[in-house]
Amino acid sequence: MKKEGTNLLIPGTPALRALRSSKEAFSADPKAYYIETWGCQMNEEDSEKLAGMLEQMGYRPVGHPQKAQCIIFNTCCVRENAELKVYGNLGRLKKLKEEHPQTIIAVCGCMMQQKGVGEAILKRYPYVDIVFGTHHAERFPEYLHRALQSGEQIFEVHEDDGTLSEGVPILRESGLKAYVTIMYGCDNYCSYCVVPYVRGREKSRTSEAILAEIRALVEEGYVEFTLLGQNVNSYGKGLEPYVSFAELLRKVNEVPGVSRIRFMTNHPKDIDEEVIKAMVDCEHITEQIHLPVQSGSSRILARMNRSYTREQYLSLIGRVRSLIPNVAISTDIIVGFPGESEADFQETLSLCEEVGFDAAYTFLYSKRNHTPADRMADQVPEDVKHERFNRLVEVVNRSAAERNAAYLHRVEDILVEGPSKNRPDTLTGRTRSGKTVNFPGDQSLTGTLQPVRITKTNSFSLFGERIEVPAKEA
Ligand code: SAH
Ligand code: SF4
Repeated sequence: MKKEGTNLLIPGTPALRALRSSKEAFSADPKAYYIETWGCQMNEEDSEKLAGMLEQMGYRPVGHPQKAQCIIFNTCCVRENAELKVYGNLGRLKKLKEEHPQTIIAVCGCMMQQKGVGEAILKRYPYVDIVFGTHHAERFPEYLHRALQSGEQIFEVHEDDGTLSEGVPILRESGLKAYVTIMYGCDNYCSYCVVPYVRGREKSRTSEAILAEIRALVEEGYVEFTLLGQNVNSYGKGLEPYVSFAELLRKVNEVPGVSRIRFMTNHPKDIDEEVIKAMVDCEHITEQIHLPVQSGSSRILARMNRSYTREQYLSLIGRVRSLIPNVAISTDIIVGFPGESEADFQETLSLCEEVGFDAAYTFLYSKRNHTPADRMADQVPEDVKHERFNRLVEVVNRSAAERNAAYLHRVEDILVEGPSKNRPDTLTGRTRSGKTVNFPGDQSLTGTLQPVRITKTNSFSLFGERIEVPAKEA
């Protein structure tokens, strides 16, 4: 289900002026756009903003680049794999541009913020029309206008100037669940990670702006909200007056119509007792937490600049579980960080066994230019990384299967998201704890809460049957 986003461009911004004057962009014939997004939820949200701006210019989405007059690649550079995919896809656009020279091709996102990358793309793929970065993507209508007018390549990659733009229209994919960014950037400088270099310093949105957005979304029918940031626990830094993340959670919980609240990502060094208390107290905050551990070895955690030890992480997990017994805990783990010995890796395996994660996102360490870990001498050979990765996946899949098996025979409230992709007679939805549940049912139940008895489970999802609730007596 598609929903129009809030229709709020900041009056007088260059983007709006370009939008008003752009005859080519404001076409009487509907034009089509295609956006391909790599990477995290923040990138997805940026793409929703680009889609929102394009729709305001009269463009409509299409499912294939061949049919689009505007193609945008929103890139990620957290790992090398994501970058390689972008280059592969850009190469494939050459033929398309030869056949449709009027099509505008734009490349944006985190890769562009890396020194020299955007310039190299314009040179190596001369049919790319626009390159722009992560700061000031709200000016996209202006870039598009200029590209259409001049026929020249546009390069708009800027340094972080500390500003935040509010009010850009967002076209969200789901009409039920909304991701709401509460802060941008990251100040942590984990030694393997490029995010602070490409997304800039931490900047929090005001709680008023966040709450206004959520209220407007409730009006449109949204019921589930995921608050997003690279480290939501340091939300509020620099805000006048200061509002902590726990306070923000409590305010969101009070918004009438909000049914489920999720949030990510947490940093184990910053999550505090107040956030855990808010989870306990607030009825709409779900029993789910994403706590990336990255490694089970304190020695490697120190080299990663994570600022917590294995013991501190385990004690945090103990505390969360003691207060929220049914909580689902997920994590991120990097395998093969420089200097990781077999003994260090064993510590990661044993931490996973001890915690019993509900889900773990596992990554092969990927060397990133200009990060401290890139310069570390003792890089782990690729074959060793892969071999460890496979062993880790086995352990985390087993624990996910065990955690899911505990749901067997339980009745869970499922927020129905719609028919499952491959089976139109099967509905898919989620438990409060974020587990995917598939069960037979009619599409008309989309958007409702349904009691479902769990009848089968595996490592990745649950299956069940809707139970009929007897009608209440008059
Ligand atoms: N801010 C979030 C997520 C950042 S990126 C956090 O701190 O948890 C998402 C995940 O990608 C990270 O948690 C980490 O596990 C992984 N990652 C980041 N850089 C990486 C790299 N160079 N190689 C492999 N995995 C990486
Ligand atoms: Fe990267 Fe660490 Fe910031 Fe997460 S907290 S974005 S891993 S630097």
